[in-house]
Amino acid sequence: MDKKKKDVRALTKDQLRDFFVKQGDKAFRGNQVYEWLWQKGAHSFEDMTNISLETRQMLQEHFVINHIRVDQMQRSEDGTIKNAVRLHDDLIVESVLIPTSTRTTACVSSQVGCSLDCKFCATSRLKRMRNLNPDEIYDQVVAIDNESRLYHNRPLSNIVFMGMGEPLMNYNNVLKAIDKITSDEGLGMSPKRITVSTSGVPKMIKKMADEEVKFNLAVSLHSAIDEVRTSIMPFNATFPLKDLRESLEHWYAKTKKRITYEYVVWDGINDTDKDIDALIEFCKFAPSKVNLIEYNPIDDGDFQQASNESIDRYISKLEANHITVTVRRSRGKDIDAACGQLANKT
Ligand code: SAH
Repeated sequence: MDKKKKDVRALTKDQLRDFFVKQGDKAFRGNQVYEWLWQKGAHSFEDMTNISLETRQMLQEHFVINHIRVDQMQRSEDGTIKNAVRLHDDLIVESVLIPTSTRTTACVSSQVGCSLDCKFCATSRLKRMRNLNPDEIYDQVVAIDNESRLYHNRPLSNIVFMGMGEPLMNYNNVLKAIDKITSDEGLGMSPKRITVSTSGVPKMIKKMADEEVKFNLAVSLHSAIDEVRTSIMPFNATFPLKDLRESLEHWYAKTKKRITYEYVVWDGINDTDKDIDALIEFCKFAPSKVNLIEYNPIDDGDFQQASNESIDRYISKLEANHITVTVRRSRGKDIDAACGQLANKT
């Protein structure tokens, strides 16, 4: 990579238009290049066939296009696809395509590695190297959209920020990527089909609420008892449940949007009635959905999925309290593409 040259995709459309005017060309040229970069997904200036050779060479002298490269694609027997994505500085992140009969979901990464330390998650064992840029997030979505069309004959329908990293610790770039994904100059997807999942950063949840974002929020809760949650998600000591709950009350007051909680039930960790009652108490203030996720073992024995009886108890108690429950079966386990398994093991 040439360090002196700027990534052309860091420029807004207006900045690109200004650039052309300063070069003595028409501002309109900026629109054309912008369209190549975002709608047509050009990987090089050479691809921009309606731009003169001279202009393309001039662009080449000033800029680079730091496009991601799908280094390796693995396909699971259940149709799930996992991409190992190489960034311009040779770091790798992973993204996943999850097809069902009604939808195709992209699960994308927001950081290289993760700074949180959830004991049950494989990604937590990778050091956080850096935040992803907006275009690196956007490119993962485009790559999956292309694969969805190619292998499943339909475009992508949903996006979840549930890959590597904590999206709310890279909030500005995640927001810019979502702007691009939802804009007509990008993929034109509805924000209602996008979910940002967080371990719970109260300050950022409040900020999102104040900005009245239109996408959905999911919180990886796993326990509504501070002591238990801190033992499995140690950063809970810094962001305790009281603060999390307060930020979610703010979110609901501002957005009136239902909150989804992701929750794994583990044997001997959070499988008692006390745990269930705490969960109900925590989430009943607003319309909520609890997504009971199947545990995907990550090669040590500390965590074991709870028995079906324990899970059934969760379901019946939650339903009795008018809280929606879904049980999410894992996908793509044979290629380490399931929740919490993303750890660049390809
Ligand atoms: N940092 C964000 C985004 C990651 S999402 C967040 O925590 O929400 C990844 C989801 O998978 C989270 O809900 C996480 O709690 C869950 N998860 C992590 N490890 C898992 C595992 N081994 N089995 C099942 N789910 C897991």
